[in-house]
Amino acid sequence: MPEDFYKILGVQKNASIEDIKKAYRELALKYHPDRNKDSGAEEHFKKINEAYAVLSDPDKRKRYDMMGSEAFNRSFSEEDIFRGFNVNDIFRDLGININMSDFGGNSPFDVFFSSGAGRGRNADIGQDILYKMGITLHEAAEGTTKEIYVKHTAECDRCEGSGAEPGTKLVRCQQCDGEGYVRSVRNSFFGRFESVTTCPKCGGSGKTYEKPCRQCGGKGSTVKSENVKVTIPQGIRDGMRLRLNGMGDFGKDKKGDLYIEVEIRKDKTFTREEDDIYTNVQVPFYKAILGGEIEVPTLSGIKRIKIEPGTQPNSKIVMRGEGIKSFRGSTKGDEIVNVIIEMPKTLSKREEELLKEYRNIREGNSGEGRKFFGIL
Ligand SMILES: [Zn+2]
Ligand SMILES: [Zn+2]
Repeated sequence: MPEDFYKILGVQKNASIEDIKKAYRELALKYHPDRNKDSGAEEHFKKINEAYAVLSDPDKRKRYDMMGSEAFNRSFSEEDIFRGFNVNDIFRDLGININMSDFGGNSPFDVFFSSGAGRGRNADIGQDILYKMGITLHEAAEGTTKEIYVKHTAECDRCEGSGAEPGTKLVRCQQCDGEGYVRSVRNSFFGRFESVTTCPKCGGSGKTYEKPCRQCGGKGSTVKSENVKVTIPQGIRDGMRLRLNGMGDFGKDKKGDLYIEVEIRKDKTFTREEDDIYTNVQVPFYKAILGGEIEVPTLSGIKRIKIEPGTQPNSKIVMRGEGIKSFRGSTKGDEIVNVIIEMPKTLSKREEELLKEYRNIREGNSGEGRKFFGIL
């Protein structure tokens, strides 16, 4: 949730560092969990500290002003915000003297500092991979199977992902004593609080090798190219993503996933809107006037349909159920046929005679040479 740090401290945007200190001091005293037992006080106290950590640091404040609270909170973790922020010193600086009770293991700062960075062992999870796949409208409508070529990291077959040269042993990491994380304990005004970080030596696995694997250099993974069969379900829509579990990059704890994003290519005949498809059909003018049968392309081939006498240009004929079967459920879209009236560019002698006769009837002349008297 984006928070306005100025509002939290109740200061103006252009507040001086002195104003900010003063506001923080008052609020910190008021909401300090040791003094204030109201529900929510602890959470609020944390927010005050967060706001102060940012606004009291000229560099962080500048970035916060530039980015706005939402982007700032997205870009900086709690850990970033509190880096270099020592509550102990700050309280001393501000002349706050709180008679501390022993918070023991339940110091509010435990809550405070442990939620940002993952506590304990950071799992090694492989990266997800995004693959964009172009398919035709017909393939989208019916579903299809495609084979794609994907490059991803995979477990090293020499060391089976351990990173250790075969024949050598995996040993317990000495730095973290096999725990995968290291603690550092600081004594503050409020008692002890500790921060927990992933062990830098073993990356959280708790184990190290005597000798790194010759093939992967100890990473436990190598780059691999693979043919992957992808089943595209019927009715899939443009931009939808399919997830293939575990087909992404290698991670010791969990492999990443492979995402297939479907891009449906433009079709020459049809356009699609949700599960309906649209097409234009040319109809000779006389057929539109007299009615008859026309041939219409559908997803399942050419079909003959009737058109009514007196069909107008751009009228729409709906062919129920000739659209695309819905991705979920059993409904089917329609095909909507837009009638384009086709005009002949040339006429035979006989056709011209007949059309002239038709004109004469419409205009009230029953024969050649008669005087025009109608209005149209
Ligand atoms: Zn290896
Ligand atoms: Zn370790």
